[in-house]
Amino acid sequence: MVRLAAGTAAAFLLLLVTLIAAVTSTVAALTASGGNGSAPSQAALADIPADYLTLYQRAAPLCPGLDWAVLAAIGKVETDHGRLDAPGVRDGENFAGAGGPMQFLAPTFDSVVTEHPLPPGGATPPSRYHPHDAIHAAAFYLCDSGARHGDFRSAIFAYNHADWYVSKVLAQAEDYRATASTPATSPNGWVVPVQGRCTSGFGPREGDIHRGQDLAAPIGTPILAAHDGTIINAGPASGYGLWVRIEHADGTITTYGHNHRNHVTAGQVVRAGQPIAEVGNRGESTGAHLHFQIEEGGHPVDPIGFYNEHGVRLCP
Ligand SMILES: [Zn+2]
Repeated sequence: MVRLAAGTAAAFLLLLVTLIAAVTSTVAALTASGGNGSAPSQAALADIPADYLTLYQRAAPLCPGLDWAVLAAIGKVETDHGRLDAPGVRDGENFAGAGGPMQFLAPTFDSVVTEHPLPPGGATPPSRYHPHDAIHAAAFYLCDSGARHGDFRSAIFAYNHADWYVSKVLAQAEDYRATASTPATSPNGWVVPVQGRCTSGFGPREGDIHRGQDLAAPIGTPILAAHDGTIINAGPASGYGLWVRIEHADGTITTYGHNHRNHVTAGQVVRAGQPIAEVGNRGESTGAHLHFQIEEGGHPVDPIGFYNEHGVRLCP
């Protein structure tokens, strides 16, 4: 739900400060990654009512950085796309004063639609209970809260101030996005760490050597362990911002850099596919992405070639 009016004035000020800081630190993030154009997955097509899917896909492009799947994921988590049989979904309000499919508080909805006139197709005057109006207003609200700059984590946190909520929405969005039809896991246990767009590749770059492959994805996207192994480093690292390094049984080391946050500590044993961190924009980074590096015998190798040899495509 949108809890803007539910907190105290102090909490609101803190939120503003947080948003300003988040926006400042991520101005360059995700200008081209993520996007609004990802196709719906089979799961999305099966779960989202067609009229709602159309609304999410039409409303998201109003915000240059917003992915329709994030908008749809909020609609899912809030009210199951308006299907939830509970007070405050079709009419009235829930205990916190939220109403409509996107669970807006009345003052928040009013301020959003005052600032951003909604496109035609909804109620007159706009209503938070009308799916068209609620979904478009949610897109504008997320945009103002950080999504414009690709900072989905701050935007979703503004929607409902809870880390579990942010994680739930991001996981749902991931489920709604179609991924490459090629397998993301190889028969010998190598997993694609992030379903993202391959940007800067391995090799010479600006008079230096780029030691890994960059995978652009929104801040907060789960980073998965590429293979079974043991965490040998997890924490701040020069240039990498925040990193995780995993040593695998054959001595291969995988490195995950620019992380927004880590979920593991050194010494921990992890399994292939286990979430170990979240995509971020820390360190020497000019946009939200994972820097993914593989070392064999102490020497970095091209991750795309390495994955090809292991029967799995790193890049969609
Ligand atoms: Zn890189």
